[in-house]
Amino acid sequence: MQDGDKLRISPIKANFSEILSKIDKFWVIGLIAGLLVATFSIDINIDKESAYIVKVNGQKIGAVKGVDVYNDVLSSIELTDGKNSLEKISFEKINFLKTDFLSKDELELSVRKELGLKAKVVAVKIDGQEVARVKSQKEYEKLLEDLKKYYYPKVDGEIKIISATIREKIEPDFVWDYYKNTQDIDDVIQKIADGQMLTQEYEVKKGDTIWDISLNNDISIEDIKLANPDLNIDKIQIGQKIKFIRKKPYVNVEIVAQINGKEEIPYDTKKIVDKNIKKGIEKIKEKGQTGLAYIEKKVFIVNDSVVQEDVLNTEVLKEPKDEVLIVGGKAHSGYVAFSGGFIRPSRGRLTSGFKFRWGRRHEGIDLASPTGTPIYAAASGKVIYAGWKSGYGKCIIISHSNGFTTLYGHASKLYVSIGEYVNKGEKIAAVGSTGRSTGPHLHFEVRKYGTPVDPLKYIR
Ligand SMILES: [Zn+2]
Repeated sequence: MQDGDKLRISPIKANFSEILSKIDKFWVIGLIAGLLVATFSIDINIDKESAYIVKVNGQKIGAVKGVDVYNDVLSSIELTDGKNSLEKISFEKINFLKTDFLSKDELELSVRKELGLKAKVVAVKIDGQEVARVKSQKEYEKLLEDLKKYYYPKVDGEIKIISATIREKIEPDFVWDYYKNTQDIDDVIQKIADGQMLTQEYEVKKGDTIWDISLNNDISIEDIKLANPDLNIDKIQIGQKIKFIRKKPYVNVEIVAQINGKEEIPYDTKKIVDKNIKKGIEKIKEKGQTGLAYIEKKVFIVNDSVVQEDVLNTEVLKEPKDEVLIVGGKAHSGYVAFSGGFIRPSRGRLTSGFKFRWGRRHEGIDLASPTGTPIYAAASGKVIYAGWKSGYGKCIIISHSNGFTTLYGHASKLYVSIGEYVNKGEKIAAVGSTGRSTGPHLHFEVRKYGTPVDPLKYIR
């Protein structure tokens, strides 16, 4: 007999194993049945099965009905934590049944908790990589629900979630571990949302400018500076190594929702050119007033970026009132000499470069940013087009010297009109999704004598 067996409730099994092998089974069954009846008729008059109080360190932690539950729990604990961990567990037979009984799982959980032992916990795996451990299957399921909810858009008005999907494969893996190695659901969600830091290295190529590197790798110049404190961004050299540190989220949660509510309608700005006032000076003649609309829209969101917005219904509650500006028109320079390079016309993520796309040539670059993000003139020049252009939606074309023109497409609003001179960096429009566009972005083209060239080669 082994040590651990002393703790178990098994009088019959131990005492009769020898006899079992020798005597006819029929008699053994009869004998056991007789014993059971005898035992229970003495101890308990109410039920056929005995009840036991289970104690850990002498403290009662609950009652069970039947010996199997108790023995199973002991076997399970012995398997993960060894025989020694059973020493502090004991039982006591009770003669009343007016109590709530613990199931095997409940008893095991209580005993393990009391002894600070390993328990069956859930490792949360995302695309095969373990991210955290939670206490139970139940907590894991709540984690999945709460994780989606974490990304639900927070808006004024009513919102109906049509669907919420986690793009990555997320699955539970049951492992034996101590509770102290598990995390609370909220902490796990925060960890998943924060993502992991990834470090990459980039080698400067011939012709690269810091703008090329920033745009092509979808990383801001600020972030490049932070990751490379010793780098002089104005003097990068071929072969030089630049470090990128970026956050990669563990999950991409795709949400489709309908949002109904009131939204402001921005006002348009009309400009009146006054040739007696110097260029660059502006005066408000009539203050603009925003309008109000009730809008029903379907939005497509990935994590916290709106990828697409489909307006289903608009009811204007109050029309906006145009702002009227008087702007100086006294030409001081006409064409401003092209000073070798354009500035980046808008903030935003480079989502498409100058290349063939879907079998067609993409004659510019796309910079994705929310509707309303300002668009600036990439260089000084004269506005030669301002209006709707097939495919490009609301569009501006500026003519610069040396045969260059720049084009700004898909705008939501235009702030300049044909014939105006604009300075480098002057706000000319706002990002939108007009024309052939699947989401708010600036389509920016540079043309040299009418031929599209790669804008990234000219942005300084
Ligand atoms: Zn484009």
